[in-house]
Amino acid sequence: MSPPSGILGNMGKSGLVDYHLHTPRCGHAVGDLEEYVARALQIGLSEVGFSDHFPLLHLRDPSLSMALEELPEYVGEVSRLAESVSGVRVRLGIEVDYLPGYEERTAEILAAHTFDYVMGAVHFLDGWGFDDPRYVDGYRGRDLYELWARYFQVLGDAAGSGLFDVLAHPDLIKKFGFRPREDVTHLYASFLDRVAAAGLAVEVSTAGLSKPVGEIYPGEDFLRLCRERDIPVTLGSDAHSPREVGRDYRAAVALLRRVGYREIALFERRRRTSLSLPD
Ligand code: ZN
Ligand code: FE
Ligand code: FE
Ligand code: ZN
Repeated sequence: MSPPSGILGNMGKSGLVDYHLHTPRCGHAVGDLEEYVARALQIGLSEVGFSDHFPLLHLRDPSLSMALEELPEYVGEVSRLAESVSGVRVRLGIEVDYLPGYEERTAEILAAHTFDYVMGAVHFLDGWGFDDPRYVDGYRGRDLYELWARYFQVLGDAAGSGLFDVLAHPDLIKKFGFRPREDVTHLYASFLDRVAAAGLAVEVSTAGLSKPVGEIYPGEDFLRLCRERDIPVTLGSDAHSPREVGRDYRAAVALLRRVGYREIALFERRRRTSLSLPD
């Protein structure tokens, strides 16, 4: 086993962050919160944010998210940890499914807590959990262009909903590698015009590298369109276990620099600041 400090080398010293950590409350992650933080300290991150899955409002599946009654416990647990840890800042985030028709209910529940940031995500399209390996058969016989257009329509609606600060893994629809033959540049562009108008950030997530698609979310072409629009970016691993914290960050930083990003976005009580990227 290579020494963990070598994973980020000097990059960690300049203070990178991981804004997408899960906890066992979602039913498909492992490890105590303290272990995630210990890993962050070990590799030299300056800040982490927990962003576990918000209770799903349209279905009850304990293998996908915490129950609604658990949300206050999650908030309390992360907040207490943030107070007690030194050497790395801990932020309170949450990853919320954008479910058309549930906007008001979602807003009410979110308003009861003080989050540092709220990430919006689309994992369901018209009831289909398209990123869930259990339902991958749903791609069969689909018009992929129509599917991608629908995905970016719904994610654009999420951007315009006023519920979120950041959009998680923005091109998640590519997860299993089913891509339209057609050029999708204008789907990206019109979606990102909505993101820019709404003033949201998008997440650069290394999780995609470990999925069938084998590519960071979002891809380079997409990220260039973000850069052209001055859309801020956050950085995350979507860790579902402590050893995944900060995974593949070298690749993420190289991608960000290649497309011209010099800083990443940070959040505190839903106000955005920024951090310079290491060289
Ligand atoms: Zn998850
Ligand atoms: Fe997600
Ligand atoms: Fe996640
Ligand atoms: Zn996620």
